[in-house]
Amino acid sequence: MDKLGQKIKAAIFGLAIGDALGVPVEFKSRSYLEVNPVTDMIGYGTYMQAAGTWSDDSSLTFCLMQSLLMGYKLNEIAKLFVRWKNDAYWTAHDERFDIGITTADALNKFDKTKNAKTSGNTGETSNGNGSLMRIMPLAFHTINMSIDERFRIIKEVSSITHAHIRSVLACYYYIEFAIALINDENKYQAYKIANAKFQDILGTNDIYKKEKPHFYHILSGDIAKLSINEIESSGYVIHSLEASVWCLLNKNTYRETVLQAVNLGSDTDTTAAIVGGLAGLLYGYKNIADIWVDKLVRKDDILNLCMAFAKSL
Ligand SMILES: [Mg+2]
Repeated sequence: MDKLGQKIKAAIFGLAIGDALGVPVEFKSRSYLEVNPVTDMIGYGTYMQAAGTWSDDSSLTFCLMQSLLMGYKLNEIAKLFVRWKNDAYWTAHDERFDIGITTADALNKFDKTKNAKTSGNTGETSNGNGSLMRIMPLAFHTINMSIDERFRIIKEVSSITHAHIRSVLACYYYIEFAIALINDENKYQAYKIANAKFQDILGTNDIYKKEKPHFYHILSGDIAKLSINEIESSGYVIHSLEASVWCLLNKNTYRETVLQAVNLGSDTDTTAAIVGGLAGLLYGYKNIADIWVDKLVRKDDILNLCMAFAKSL
């Protein structure tokens, strides 16, 4: 595997392992996890799944990669998402045990209309983290594109399900952060670069600019200094983005970063999946514990997908 292939492996395993670490305690409160912290890859709990079982976050990430193997075709991506929803395609155990409300609504709409450009929900209350959690493959797909082209693709792919501009902008922010890490920037530099690129995009459109207050914590440049009590970990896309950057900046290993994300509570698997992708990139695949990789369900299939995806770029 070449260098980019190694980065793909690091990002994707980093994401899926974060997801699997969080699945057993999804919806648990922070106060519960303070007393009973997750310290390893455990099984059962919320969904009664074996250790190493990943959820919708990883499934939809794999569907996006699988579709990109055939080139970028928006409706084909949405079709694979529907296959996941209806037929448990790219699931850990041939069973889809969770789905977000906005994602379910949008995929039902796509199933009827076959138009991924109009399937996503545009409402301000439909800004869950459901597109952010599956967007990582676009860092690799768009790395050599112009900013305009990259933004257009991120917007389209988020909008299959999450079409409000806040979700789109959160995905764009995350991809710029990921690309900086792929380019071997350290995490502080990557944070600066993502903030600068994000400000540039906001400046291109008045509707985008109006979203700036929602990204206040991120754009302060000082999010790492917030106390844990100022970091929320619900399913709201802004909370997930803030929590992810906060965990990445405040912890110094892959393990500490994803466990911190899980132990914030609430949307444990998704927060850990989102930051897990970034932490995988930052620390590298070799710094993800072998025991966690070995426990990950369908790890050989995931590895093969990463290799095929690397080859397709
Ligand atoms: Mg999930």
